[in-house]
Amino acid sequence: MADKRDYYEVLGLKKGAAEEEIKKAFRKKAMEFHPDKNPGDKAAEDKFKEVNEAYGILSDKEKKDLYDRFGHAGVDPNAGFGGGGFSGFGGGFGGGAGGADFSDLFGDLFGGMFGGGGGAQRRRNGPKKGRDLQHGLRITFKEAAFGTKKKIKLKRQSDCPACNGTGAKDGTAKHTCETCHGTGQVQTQQRTAFGTFTNVGACPTCRGKGEIIDTPCTECSGTGKIIREFTLSVDIPAGVDSDSVITLRGQGEPGTNGGPAGDLYIVLQVEPHEVFTRDGNDLYLDMPITFEQAALGTKLIVPTLTEKVSYKVPAGTQPDAVFRLKGKGIKALRRSAFGSEYGDLYVKMVLEVPTKLSGDQKKAIKKMAEELGSDAYPQKNKFSKCMEKMF
Ligand SMILES: [Zn+2]
Ligand SMILES: [Zn+2]
Repeated sequence: MADKRDYYEVLGLKKGAAEEEIKKAFRKKAMEFHPDKNPGDKAAEDKFKEVNEAYGILSDKEKKDLYDRFGHAGVDPNAGFGGGGFSGFGGGFGGGAGGADFSDLFGDLFGGMFGGGGGAQRRRNGPKKGRDLQHGLRITFKEAAFGTKKKIKLKRQSDCPACNGTGAKDGTAKHTCETCHGTGQVQTQQRTAFGTFTNVGACPTCRGKGEIIDTPCTECSGTGKIIREFTLSVDIPAGVDSDSVITLRGQGEPGTNGGPAGDLYIVLQVEPHEVFTRDGNDLYLDMPITFEQAALGTKLIVPTLTEKVSYKVPAGTQPDAVFRLKGKGIKALRRSAFGSEYGDLYVKMVLEVPTKLSGDQKKAIKKMAEELGSDAYPQKNKFSKCMEKMF
């Protein structure tokens, strides 16, 4: 993957360019390198494919996010994500080159030209990859930290069992469409400002299938597909976070005409924890502490995700002081070259001041304050001096 160019660079953009800029840049580059404008030019064809692939990723919000965060590794279907033998992660992009949806960009102008090379001869009823599906999944904070196995139920299009996905009622035949002679396509010529283009559209007689079913299957009304509920088991590795994507290859919708099935993207949503918050692999904890504990020092019992640990707080600890418990954070999904395998736990001392005091208690506090005098508070003294200077 090292020799792969940056997708933004391919489109002549700066990193993180906005949707509109990406669209505009793609139009420009696609026009420039289009095979019909550069006949027989292999370099232009490669460029065109590269531009095409870049747009396929950057025009898809989810894939763009993954690319922005992880680079090519985040969107490359071949690059496993998560060094430790875990290869399912990372939101692979199955479409590769040709994944971009050109129809909304070019309308009829370029319609049908993107079949590769001379496009026009390409059969529209050839193998086609099934649609990718997306499924949201909520997991608990702990499940995200330690990994888990989840069963999910989802509705998915599948081949109709009654007709084996053919769409023809058992025992009945199909015949080749006479309009398109089985190609599923009809051609028309179109003159435009850019020259004459051959437009290829789906055959209206067979709706692009190339064949006509004489007696449609009653179960699926001749479509060959039905919606069924599936139960799938999903392995969730330790260290995932909200918006992490787990890719289950081939678990999307079935392909047509022998094409491969699409992929299923599981997008995770992690529930918040009662006391811990998380940033990357580090955990944060607000630990309540009393005045006398802070002033005199104490042994605090601090929770981690797995156990209680004892932590010695020194005398004279200030409010909001943060102590770090190394390695008590979350296991990293990917171990970085220089980082540790686990994040850290940051414990913030949150001073709790008593609110209901008796007369005697108030007296005792006042007495202590008098004995302490102003020397006990260097920060406060410094601040007072600043105030005097200001006004
Ligand atoms: Zn059927
Ligand atoms: Zn036809």
